[in-house]
Amino acid sequence: MSFRKVLVASVAAGLMLAAAGASAAPIFGFTPEHADRQQALEAKFDQALSGEEMKGWLETLSSEPNHVGSPHDKANAELMLAKFKSWGWDARIETFDILYPTPIAEKLELLGPHPFTAALHETPVEGDRTSVQADRALPPYVAYQGDGDVTADIVYVNYGMPEDYKALEHLGISVKGKIVLARYGAGWRGLKPQLAEEHGAVGCLIFSDPADDGYATDDVWPKGGQRPPQGVQRGSVEKMMIYAGDPLTPGVGATKDAKRLTRETATTILHIPALPISYADAQPFLAAMGGPLAPRNFRGALPITYRTGGVGAASAHLLVKSDWSLKPIYDVIAVMKGKEFPDQWVIRGNHHDGWVFGATDPLSGNVVLMEEAKAIGALARTGWRPKRTLVYASWDAEEPGLIGSTEWAEAHAAELQKKAVAYVNSDSNERGFLGAEGSHSLQSLVNQVARDVTDPETGATVATRRRARAQVEGSRPGAREEAKAEAEIAAKGGEMPLAPLGSGSDYSAFIQHLGIASINLGYGGEGEMGGVYHSLYDSYDHYLRYGDPDFRYEVALAQTAGRVMLRLADADVPPMRLAPVSGAVSRYLKEVKQLVEKARTDDARFVALSQSNAFALSDDPTHPTHPPAAETPVEPLDFSAMDAAAERLARATTAFDTAYAAAVGHLSRAQAAALEPVMSGLEQALTAPEGLPGRPWFHHMVYAPGMLTGYGAKTLPGIREAIESRRWAEAQAYIAVVARTLDGYSSRLEQTTTTLAAK
Ligand SMILES: [Zn+2]
Repeated sequence: MSFRKVLVASVAAGLMLAAAGASAAPIFGFTPEHADRQQALEAKFDQALSGEEMKGWLETLSSEPNHVGSPHDKANAELMLAKFKSWGWDARIETFDILYPTPIAEKLELLGPHPFTAALHETPVEGDRTSVQADRALPPYVAYQGDGDVTADIVYVNYGMPEDYKALEHLGISVKGKIVLARYGAGWRGLKPQLAEEHGAVGCLIFSDPADDGYATDDVWPKGGQRPPQGVQRGSVEKMMIYAGDPLTPGVGATKDAKRLTRETATTILHIPALPISYADAQPFLAAMGGPLAPRNFRGALPITYRTGGVGAASAHLLVKSDWSLKPIYDVIAVMKGKEFPDQWVIRGNHHDGWVFGATDPLSGNVVLMEEAKAIGALARTGWRPKRTLVYASWDAEEPGLIGSTEWAEAHAAELQKKAVAYVNSDSNERGFLGAEGSHSLQSLVNQVARDVTDPETGATVATRRRARAQVEGSRPGAREEAKAEAEIAAKGGEMPLAPLGSGSDYSAFIQHLGIASINLGYGGEGEMGGVYHSLYDSYDHYLRYGDPDFRYEVALAQTAGRVMLRLADADVPPMRLAPVSGAVSRYLKEVKQLVEKARTDDARFVALSQSNAFALSDDPTHPTHPPAAETPVEPLDFSAMDAAAERLARATTAFDTAYAAAVGHLSRAQAAALEPVMSGLEQALTAPEGLPGRPWFHHMVYAPGMLTGYGAKTLPGIREAIESRRWAEAQAYIAVVARTLDGYSSRLEQTTTTLAAK
């Protein structure tokens, strides 16, 4: 009996257990009787799912390069349109015209005694069938860099994050007038050229060090799954934390006649040229560098001595020139009208554009979305109709800047704010554990769905597996505080908290701009896709070996996201429980207060070190460094408005949840109808019209992508980022804004609770 066969047997046993327990398990938002009916519906939905079918679609969709503007990307949209229609959906393609630069010319040369010209090209790999199409792919580049032709000395800046610049300053190395060479990792790609530009650099190169996703992590493709020497990570460097979407049309849909900014007036485009390169191309530049020995944490896995450059440095010639014309994009939108509440929309999305073939990112998620739509179409053919309207969307142009979803959300903003109940996103998917991030009002829903889906390889439920992992990770020596806290929750059998949403996929416009409750779902952690991310080698052949060979986690994601959609569509009352919202806010408030305390401790330590002359005395006298500069001292902050708002929120959510539980199944039709828009609009009460400091597009006051993290989330961002950057007046101002917003949310809850209790 092979290993896999053992697993299949235990899966079958797990399924039987799940089925036997089904009728007893309550479903949040449904009466017991409706929960039974729902479980029967979900079982039928599961029967319609086929891994083989998704495999076939994945092969077709990833057979040619499918970046924005490519013929295959458009053909994929048309293929999906035809499929959605054949499954009984009312489908259409919505087109927008966006600024999408594509490279015309690229050059990178090392000058000096050992001249070298970078290949800037990914070569075919044996056993990877589509890799022979390298010439039809976009060359490696980063979208929305600034174009230019520069010759300058090079400085190696490690990950190119703020702390790396501090370390260089300490060594007396400046990047002013230089070309920086940064490695991928530690922070979002777009921050690297942006911070380089802010520090006065004239160009930026970004390479993938084998320490991070190459041979130091595992064998490289095709022997293993990791990045081969010539592999390059493409990507966007648009400043999406200012606003997402088309750089020329912030806040409005990029329709034909939309009013547009110019490339020069758009604030999300960089000004210096930047290029991503392979480690084969980066090594000669790093090897040629002089200057001080790079600090320990700067050193990667190349067989060279890492130096910072900047003194007696190597110099380089960098040229990037792009075609900056508008390109059409194709969003596929499929609608199934709700029979009871047609004006309540439950929206599901995944993007279909890739950087090259995009087998994992995004097509592994996109074929799951298609499979769900097919299975829902099959349910509809048996006479079932969702209570609320289902909208299935396959977005274009996510890769350059979440553009297809953002333009659609902006073009339909008013209608969405009236009608959208929730947005459910996915993107790449592979073997592993269920990952879920999003609005805490949906936390209970997600936890219950995880209870009802079986992990295909262990036979445990995906919730049980996730709990087991949290407990083990939290018990490791040196575990982070959050990991320990999660382990404790997992051990007690409580709900696993949702992680907050930052950025990095198509939910941004929905949650952060419009205030629509959103979640992002996907399996991961056991595939080996990181090393081919955004390269020519994110291919069908690679996915078959290192993504999800049996397409069983593809089926698991369809079961997970499908259940979330079907429960949101059919629940007696939209399945939102709000205690997790106040729980999250209290947790975040505690964290921001701790940040202030930490800043105070840091200040005191700095003063003591300066006064005792410790910085100079601890230096090697033959290699003196520059002592760090003092920071703006901490000023007192008054948190009383936030304390009061958090307490009121806790009371309001408890009262609401109690009234909700008593009301499900006991509302008249008129009461239920009146409650619908109130429930779906709740999350919008967490937004403030003025938005975040310096970025008014971001309205949500609880979650945002960080200005200095890019993808990573910042919670209570208006307060937290002001504290982190020591802008004390701004922190105080946002304490007032966030407290006012939370009070507005609580007041809305209190009114809703009164309505529910009066049933
Ligand atoms: Zn993606």
